[in-house]
Amino acid sequence: MNSYLRGGIEIDPTIAYFSMEIGMETAVPTYSGGLGVLAGDTLKSCADLGLPVIGVSLLYRQGYFRQEITEQGEQKEHPVLWNPEDRLLKLPGKVVLTEIEGRDILVQAWLYTYTGNTGMDVPILFLDTDLEANREDDRRLTDALYAGGQEFRLKQEILLGIGGVKYLRSLGFNQIRTYHMNEGHSSLLTLELLREYQRTVFETWDAETVWDVDKVKSLCVFTTHTPVAAGHDRFSFDLVERVLKTGLSMNVIRRLSGEDCLNMTTLGLNLSRFANGVAYQHGDVSSGMFPHHRIDFITNGIHTYTWVHEAFRKLFDRHARLWTNDPKYLREAMTIPREEVWRAHLDCKNRLFDRISKLMGATFDPEILTLGFARRAAAYKRASLMFRDLDRLIDIAENSPGLQIVYAGKSHPKDGEGKRLIQEIHQYKQRIEKRTQKLKLVYMPNYTMDLGYCITAGVDVWVNTPIRPHEASGTSGMKAALNGVPNLSILDGWWVEGCIEGVTGWAIGDLDPRLDLSAEERDDLDCRNLHDKLESVVVPKFYEDRDGWAGMQCQAIAINGSLFNTHRQMEQYVTKAYFTSR
Ligand SMILES: *Cc1c(COP(=O)(O)O)cnc(C)c1O
Repeated sequence: MNSYLRGGIEIDPTIAYFSMEIGMETAVPTYSGGLGVLAGDTLKSCADLGLPVIGVSLLYRQGYFRQEITEQGEQKEHPVLWNPEDRLLKLPGKVVLTEIEGRDILVQAWLYTYTGNTGMDVPILFLDTDLEANREDDRRLTDALYAGGQEFRLKQEILLGIGGVKYLRSLGFNQIRTYHMNEGHSSLLTLELLREYQRTVFETWDAETVWDVDKVKSLCVFTTHTPVAAGHDRFSFDLVERVLKTGLSMNVIRRLSGEDCLNMTTLGLNLSRFANGVAYQHGDVSSGMFPHHRIDFITNGIHTYTWVHEAFRKLFDRHARLWTNDPKYLREAMTIPREEVWRAHLDCKNRLFDRISKLMGATFDPEILTLGFARRAAAYKRASLMFRDLDRLIDIAENSPGLQIVYAGKSHPKDGEGKRLIQEIHQYKQRIEKRTQKLKLVYMPNYTMDLGYCITAGVDVWVNTPIRPHEASGTSGMKAALNGVPNLSILDGWWVEGCIEGVTGWAIGDLDPRLDLSAEERDDLDCRNLHDKLESVVVPKFYEDRDGWAGMQCQAIAINGSLFNTHRQMEQYVTKAYFTSR
């Protein structure tokens, strides 16, 4: 195949990894949060490990959005200004997509090449419809991520799944043995594969089309990412019939994707040889949601080299020499002298506080215990839980040298509850400022990968307070642990596996779900448990046992950093999902 058409891609991939969002770096703003960052980290580890993988996603010319927050805590959304030309290479080839309402839509692709630590490349295709030949509304399909209504979303997902397979074909890749659907957004790729593998059988007088479900199944792998039913994409059959033109009858689509509507998860599961949730507990919960399917688990990770703060990189180079290509060696972090860990940590903390001072005009003191909470402002994550009993939190701060809290996170533009949460935190901030100097709070705007890098390494404790069991995995806590920041979290997602009480961090409450509680009572209890642990264990440990604290930092790195990374994650995908005779 002409390497010019491939933009110089040299590998012949055997695995195609499809994701609605992929976050490789802040300058390529094609991600909204955890799902995209995970996809990016996954592909980076594939490159390091030399796995023959190609990524497929959409180009978003306005990114997700740039977040501005007003004095009153109101979120304003602005397009992100970026030039794809700066970081990506436009490929010369184009394909014609006919599956959206039956008209021709021209699709081009941009190539991002990630070169791993060991010199191997992983190519990523970002599909784009902003071409003059296309109708105005079709050109807007790749403007922004998760924008628009159901119809727009369905069109984007046709572009990703069906357009993605067509584009791969146009490049002549014919070694692909695994199509990995990272969440249901890309499940329509199965329909394109069904179409490719259809056979016509002649029975005396009639020709009959046979859809080779088993063949497609043998080619696909599916990962589900949310235990919340509303998080699974669903499209009404009316809409599907009107928009999606594949040549498959609605009867076939119905049989594969659900009784009442096209459920993208059901479609993906029905046509995959292997399916998994993203943490041990999430695999269990997903199996309960889809009882007719076997759903295994592979716990998410983070790309170690991306998320280790510069200050710690140097330390690891000296004390855990082989860590860059194999993060298991981070177990040697146990041998790092505690003063050195504390010094590297202070370096991260000072850099974060400089940024806070420049950006927000707030003075944060590096001697003061600082909690971090940064992630999408989704209601289930309960960002304001610790203020539920404000008097108690102020008491804890006043009976200690002090307490500081750093917040960040975007709310989806259409998520009213998420936006209210951001406002609520700003209101608490104003109330707190009137009552005490001992408790300080900032909400940093426009959470990106860069800011995530700064905050996860720069605070003392990473807090997470999801409603169980809604956190499928969570990854920001892994970034913190890797940089010697212990977690203080509800036992949900990855923390069920990552928490060793008093060793790698602390649990808020226990694993037993109190099913008898109302939502109010549950929040009260979780808030009380959080304050109890903070007051009786975390605050005294930080202020009175600095050596023990630094010891816990080493343990967080050695025990959690060495395991919760995408290198380990990919090794498990290889043995459980990609190359297996099961
Ligand atoms: C890591 C990361 C996330 C994921 O955070 P969770 O706490 O796992 O939800 C979201 N956004 C950005 C920018 C990140 O870097």
